[in-house]
Amino acid sequence: MPNDELFRELLEVRAKHVRGQIARLSDEIREVTLAHRDTPADDEHDPEGSTVTLERERDVALLAGVELQLTELRNAQERLSRGTYGTCERCDQPIPPERLEVRPEARYCVACAGIRARER
Ligand SMILES: [Zn+2]
Repeated sequence: MPNDELFRELLEVRAKHVRGQIARLSDEIREVTLAHRDTPADDEHDPEGSTVTLERERDVALLAGVELQLTELRNAQERLSRGTYGTCERCDQPIPPERLEVRPEARYCVACAGIRARER
């Protein structure tokens, strides 16, 4: 049985960190977008233009990644309150606490995570 209190705290700390990243990236994207709007949309003749677009695309991709992380963390918090936390969703075996300490949002044990990665 995983130590619920410990993982509740771990998940909360991570979620806080990820929410900070989301706020920072959203700000960056907004700033870049606003800065870009003030300059004429002429990427071809404006070397700045393509840099700005690339930077924004990178930020948007990063943002999608951290938002997914936040969703995973929220799901884990839900499992914790339902009492199903720390059980592999594929084989119903307990996930080792060492794994949960590294990846508190883990839904699968190491073996099943490997199988799922290969199935993809
Ligand atoms: Zn499993």
